[in-house]
Amino acid sequence: MSILVFIEISEGEIKKSSLEAVSYAAGIGGEVTAIAFGEASQEALAAAGKAGANKVLHVADEKYKQGNIQAYASALAAAVDTTGAETIVLAKSSLGDPVSARLAIKIGASLASNVTELPDTSNGFTVKRSIYTGKAFANVDLTEGKRIIGIKKNAAIIKEDGADAAVEAFAVNAEDADFKVKVTSQEKATGEILLPEADLVVSGGRGLKGPENWGMIEDLAKTLGAATGCSKPVSDMDWRPHHEHVGQTGIKVAPSLYIAVGISGAIQHLAGVNSSKYIVVINKDPEAPFFKAADYGIVGDAFEVVPKLTEAIKALNN
Ligand code: FAD
Repeated sequence: MSILVFIEISEGEIKKSSLEAVSYAAGIGGEVTAIAFGEASQEALAAAGKAGANKVLHVADEKYKQGNIQAYASALAAAVDTTGAETIVLAKSSLGDPVSARLAIKIGASLASNVTELPDTSNGFTVKRSIYTGKAFANVDLTEGKRIIGIKKNAAIIKEDGADAAVEAFAVNAEDADFKVKVTSQEKATGEILLPEADLVVSGGRGLKGPENWGMIEDLAKTLGAATGCSKPVSDMDWRPHHEHVGQTGIKVAPSLYIAVGISGAIQHLAGVNSSKYIVVINKDPEAPFFKAADYGIVGDAFEVVPKLTEAIKALNN
């Protein structure tokens, strides 16, 4: 089986979520070809081999640098033709989602996103996807024709035992229609670790009483090398910027560790954090719903617990 994987590049490196997609594809079994756009060294791209890719196609053309969705979908369709891929895998993301939808139309493929496990190929090709913001699962039959699989973060463990992949330039016959939308500039949020990609997140809720108390959240986050997040009311009240709002209507995070401080654990908040590997909850109310979703819980006053936790981690680091 030939499998094509769309890999996203950030600052010259393959994103972690895309390495997961490559390892997921390798787990299906078959010839895995990855395709990447924009600026990245041969060495950085070859690293996809460690995660399970046999080959990497690189679209280095300047025009493809800025994350143009239409152009990426057309280039992927061309790569599907070239490789004869029947299965296309990508990471669910703000770029992957619209690209996969457009690609599905272009190549007439079925599409399942939010996929959480390797497919069941014992009798056809069935994938399990998370639905209703993680409250339920659906098994989707993708046996017929071409299929696109958008995997949820942390759905696959990144393999590291492969050999470097061969990297080949891939030229696309770009059409003007693909570049109707022009990305005129891109700005990186300054300073902090970006929340959607963060491996560690410290998040605060209304229990922190006011923006003046965020110093201890930032201190803990800095000590851990974590990004900071918050609940919706906190950003609604302008205690924190909106790009930190985690949940159903905000950013969906998938870190290895999510520390929730003074957050009750409403379903809309949980919808944004339920892909985290480990959840630690600090709340003074032992009945707070968040404890049900937690791997570890500390019942206590955040104003006492958080500074002590930070000091203890600092002591470990020294
Ligand atoms: P609260 O519910 O007020 O909880 C504060 C918590 O802090 C309590 O559990 C309390 O015990 C604890 N606490 C208080 N003092 C201390 C202390 N000193 N030490 C330790 N703990 C303390 N919310 C989101 O977060 N994200 C979303 O994306 C989102 N989308 C929504 C979409 C819709 C359509 C709707 C209707 C709601 C949405 N909400 C969302 C809001 C959500 O329902 C909750 O109201 C919100 O998550 C509550 O935020 P909170 O936990 O910070 O505040």
